Amino acid sequence: MTSQTATVRCPVCNDLREISVRQRRRLANSGKTFTCSMCRWVPPKIEIREEHRLYWLERYPPEWIAQVGSSIWGRRT
Ligand SMILES: [Zn+2]
Repeated sequence: MTSQTATVRCPVCNDLREISVRQRRRLANSGKTFTCSMCRWVPPKIEIREEHRLYWLERYPPEWIAQVGSSIWGRRT
């Protein structure tokens, strides 16, 4: 059985994702938003302190950090 999918946009990160038409209808009817699981999971306010930056900078070379970052989030221009 094939289920029809719909593309929805997360209102927090603007990311697009496919969900089933049934799920889309259920979310819309319940008044919920299409917030993706990552945005629901991540606390809304993250305070990045110097100790967080130093954790990575003291352990890995900047080139490695940039390479991993672009692998995860894409290359920034
Ligand atoms: Zn999101």
